Amino acid sequence: MKLGNYVNNDEWCLEEKGMDWKRINADETRMTVGNGYLGTRATLEEGDPAGFPGTYLNGFFDRYDATVIDMVNVPNWLPLQIRVNGAQLNCRTCTLVSHRRTLDMRHGFLYRHTLFRESNGNETEVETICFADWHYRHLCVLHCVVTPLNYDGDIEVTGGVDACVYNIDRVPDYSDRADFDPQVKWKKWARSKHLYDFTSRQCDDNLSFVMHTRDPQQSLSYALSLYSEDPHTAWSEHDYEWIGKRLHFAGQKGKSITIQKRVVIYTSRDVEAIKVQDSSEKLLTDTRTESFEQIFSRHCALWDEKWQKCDGKIVGDDELTFALRFNIYHLLIAADAQDDRNNIGAKSLSGEGYKGHIFWDTDIFLLPFFTFTQPHTARSLVMYRYHTLEGAKRYAQETGYQGARYPWESAAEGVEETPQWTHDRKVRIWTGEEEIHITADVAIGAINYYIATRDEQMFFSAGMEILLEVARFWESRLEHDAANDCYHLRKVIGPDEFHEHVDNNYFTNRIVMFCLEKIVYYYREFMKRHPKQCAQLSKKLGVSEKDSDKWLAMAHKIYLPSSNEAGVIEEFEGYFQLEDVQISEWDERGLPIYPRNLDHYTCNPTQLVKQPDVIMLMMILSDQFSEESKRVNYQFYEKRTMHKSSLSPAIHTIMGIATGLHDKAMEYFRVAALVDLHDNQKNTQDGVHIASAGGTWQAFVCGFGGMRVMDEELHFHPWLPDTWEEIHFSIQWRGDTLRVKIGHHKVYIVQETDHGEHSITIGDQVYSLTHQHSLEVQYAP
Ligand code: BGC
Repeated sequence: MKLGNYVNNDEWCLEEKGMDWKRINADETRMTVGNGYLGTRATLEEGDPAGFPGTYLNGFFDRYDATVIDMVNVPNWLPLQIRVNGAQLNCRTCTLVSHRRTLDMRHGFLYRHTLFRESNGNETEVETICFADWHYRHLCVLHCVVTPLNYDGDIEVTGGVDACVYNIDRVPDYSDRADFDPQVKWKKWARSKHLYDFTSRQCDDNLSFVMHTRDPQQSLSYALSLYSEDPHTAWSEHDYEWIGKRLHFAGQKGKSITIQKRVVIYTSRDVEAIKVQDSSEKLLTDTRTESFEQIFSRHCALWDEKWQKCDGKIVGDDELTFALRFNIYHLLIAADAQDDRNNIGAKSLSGEGYKGHIFWDTDIFLLPFFTFTQPHTARSLVMYRYHTLEGAKRYAQETGYQGARYPWESAAEGVEETPQWTHDRKVRIWTGEEEIHITADVAIGAINYYIATRDEQMFFSAGMEILLEVARFWESRLEHDAANDCYHLRKVIGPDEFHEHVDNNYFTNRIVMFCLEKIVYYYREFMKRHPKQCAQLSKKLGVSEKDSDKWLAMAHKIYLPSSNEAGVIEEFEGYFQLEDVQISEWDERGLPIYPRNLDHYTCNPTQLVKQPDVIMLMMILSDQFSEESKRVNYQFYEKRTMHKSSLSPAIHTIMGIATGLHDKAMEYFRVAALVDLHDNQKNTQDGVHIASAGGTWQAFVCGFGGMRVMDEELHFHPWLPDTWEEIHFSIQWRGDTLRVKIGHHKVYIVQETDHGEHSITIGDQVYSLTHQHSLEVQYAP
């Protein structure tokens, strides 16, 4: 059977037709395959100087030989070279009669079909399927079928693992975004070497190797098998940082040859260091008896299950349905549901942007998707914050505070990893020191997870410990103003990173206030509902009811910048005095262009903001602001928001809908949903904008679907544009699966499972939803 027959219909497939060398690195990102344990960029199997191969393992970081800790680019398991009568087939030297690659998002694999013609007229058809298996997360599969179409001749296939890999070190950040030839670029700047001490061995038919990182010391092993059931002779290759196998076939015109490549990866984060090599070899041997079809069909079935829980559809807009699914696909391959020491970096496992570091992106932008579709994965993401609590406590202490201070950028240990300078050392980066709102965001993420799941066991142990340490941090960080008996937070950066060292950023102060109120509320719940456990934890942490009274009193006295006469909230003290520069030009994608030669580093004296700040707060604390206040502020800040972070447009979608500014909302939704498909931030090559993917899902469900959690219950206030007929999505709510369909005047909710009765508000009406009683409700938007 042709491998192409496994590919689903177009609705689910991202296609790359022909070779477009300009798009090559962005396509490598877009077509990344992964399973949460690992992600692999879609580079060509035969290699190409313009390609940037990247495989990343969740949580596998190293500091050695890098300016800032890196998510290590581990050995490339994709290489597969085909030689016909000694000449290598590749996209540069052969004529490509046809070439197509398809990312099948429904079943999480990459399909390739290339028809090579050599100068002598020989034509060879090559088909491959590759994926990171969803059942055996350590297993990578590359299946290949080679057919000599019009000749008989020698065909040699070499499949190997290239362990001579580097991370990108210092790509200069030119403000004019100089376009480097990728071939120059990767040679020049991919220079941080993290893996050393390559030793390889052969065991039966399989080859394997071990390497190590130095800071921290970790071991990594790959085992490789390459085989075929077609008659062949085989050789093994061990070289410097390379293992491979060569299979030689007597090719016959029209007769296909099938080659199976499998690679297993283990690190000392998975098993004891001395067992990494045995483990990788063992899994390879154990799976040897399973055919490609068995492994592949089980992989596809697991994908089907995932999509059952999280698919979204816009009836009436195929392009945006596709974009939504593209974002969901990337969310699914980014998260590690099985290892709760891991989290999601700003570019997931699809590239090296931000060096794989973890930001507030997770707690605020990504967690909602997982909480409402894969609660188990959400739990794992929250637990990462628990496992890094010690790092956060150390960080608080080192900087003169108490409790836990979560780092703005973190890796595996949870200590601050934000670089202090840009690579050229021209610009000081202050976010590590000043973007402290993350410590409230982490708490809010954990609370929202609990509200949606009622995971008492986790929340009233690990969750509560996080919250109490967070409260302690704020107690020590809030500065008392005796004269006015209030508290300030000075020298901070809010979400709008154009403005540094600001005092009393409204977002930060208000979110800290909210966070302290909620922590106290849940601490009291804890006392009431689990008194014994609460007493134990309080004793362990040295926290008492008196502390919580104090936190609440402090929360009520946090100073908030006021609003102007029109009702616009001042982003921080002194913001209104800045020069009022507004946006007057937009690029072809509808994104603002910096006015008057301003750039990222020179907006500080102006009212231009990088991304929503006041508006971001209004999205998070939606029920605490009136619709009028949201509208006034949206209209003011929208004219000044540069959307220089991909996190921005999704928030403007949700808030555009909430304020009735529907045209704006629609424009922003397109920008958010298509950020990587259209490369509208012009850096998709560095990895997908995973927070925007989470934001896109929120814009779909919470914006158009109008879903909010208020007073701990679900509410829907939907709005759909005229061109859409209906939207469909599913959510997990307190153990139940709810299938939601929303039309222009109708909301239809079915509770598929039976864990209880739920109160659901649609518009202003409260309904009761049970497994037996679906809701079909008319509403006026
Ligand atoms: C944004 C941050 C974000 C980070 C990582 C920055 O450009 O301003 O809000 O957390 O990117 O995505």
